[in-house]
Amino acid sequence: MKKKIFQSIALTSIVLVAISYFLCTFIIYTDLEKTTKQTLINETNSLAQLYNKNPDDFLQTKFYSESRITLIQADGKVLLDSRYNLNSLSNHSTRPEFIEAVKKGQAASTRYSDTLNESTYYYALKLDNGNILRLSTTSNTLISTLGSSFMPILLIFASVIVISLIIARILTQKIVDPINHLNLDIPLSNKTYPELQPLLENMSYHNKIRKEFSANVSHELKTPLTSISGYAEIMANNLQGDNTQEFSRKIVDESKQLLRIIEDIIKLSKLDEGNVQLDYETIDYQEVIQNVLRNLENYAGNANVALIDETLPVKGLAVRQIIYEIMYNLIQNAIKYNYENGHVWVSLRDRTSYIEIIVKDDGIGIHDKDKERVFERFYRSDKSHSKQIEGTGLGLAIVKHGVDFHNGTIEVFDYLNHGTKFVIKINK
Ligand code: ADP
Repeated sequence: MKKKIFQSIALTSIVLVAISYFLCTFIIYTDLEKTTKQTLINETNSLAQLYNKNPDDFLQTKFYSESRITLIQADGKVLLDSRYNLNSLSNHSTRPEFIEAVKKGQAASTRYSDTLNESTYYYALKLDNGNILRLSTTSNTLISTLGSSFMPILLIFASVIVISLIIARILTQKIVDPINHLNLDIPLSNKTYPELQPLLENMSYHNKIRKEFSANVSHELKTPLTSISGYAEIMANNLQGDNTQEFSRKIVDESKQLLRIIEDIIKLSKLDEGNVQLDYETIDYQEVIQNVLRNLENYAGNANVALIDETLPVKGLAVRQIIYEIMYNLIQNAIKYNYENGHVWVSLRDRTSYIEIIVKDDGIGIHDKDKERVFERFYRSDKSHSKQIEGTGLGLAIVKHGVDFHNGTIEVFDYLNHGTKFVIKINK
């Protein structure tokens, strides 16, 4: 976190410093350039006036100007130069500012020297007698102006990094401290950032679910165990009369229920761990579903319920064991919560962006009020008729968990007049 805060502060500051540096240098530079050019023009104009008044005196004058002053004859011959020896200067008739000044009376031009990173401004004016008066001045180019302040800028960048580190450390401490002192047992009791509220609400919700789950587990385990120990105690005291067989059967049934609950809890906690990821493979959904149908054939036959396979071949990336579990629970429920001579239809389709699985039956159906809750752990709708049918109330919780695990959705609808339809969509 500290690293991230530091990086964003340092990066933002460096970008800001760099942008302001370039902008300031550019503005100051263009302003300076404008002033320099204007000064050069003004100076040329004054000297031209002086010359026009008395050319002879002008030639005798000693100039103390920063600018280089050159007087050029109409044919390009240099008559005077304030900086260079006349013998070293060639004919100036080809200089662009000279040519233009001869034609138009005045001209300005700029020449760059790459090697010196300098630019020279020239301003030339045609005098009354046809000669040309030219002034020039040299200044740094924008690039060399930028370059000249490279070291100070480097120093500023270094300071920005150091300051960012310090700020990042202080900020991280300030942000993290309240988080480290959160009371995770009662998340909503914490007075902290509003931004953490959704997280805390989520934690509180999950704490509640966990507590409810533990309470339910204890209750659900206690019920069959109480029966088992009750019947066993009667038998231990030889008080069962001629009910030995019935009591033993009850003990067997309750033990099986106990085992079913424990197996389901193990499946759920495996899904909760979330480390089944490695088992992802391309599976043949149809094969898995047909396998489930085969394994439930006897179960359906005993209940006198017809299983109707409407699947088509579909392949997709999934965890085989979880898909098997989902289908087993849904189809088993559709048989369990059905009437004699009832039907269960299972379909599988490859839609463009998802795989669609539908399990529907013409059984006893689910009340609207229960539809939302059937996926909750240990929830068994309308206990009156569910109680007589064996189950743990965990099957649909496992189904929902498995579907979520595959990034899918599951919805429950009424089917025909009294049946149920589960629609699963698994994103590809
Ligand atoms: P159980 O072990 O009780 O079957 P489930 O979690 O699988 O637990 O299902 C939860 C409840 O949803 C069941 O008790 C039952 O009332 C209802 N239910 C599930 N599937 C169906 C179905 N196909 N038709 C009618 N009711 C169903």
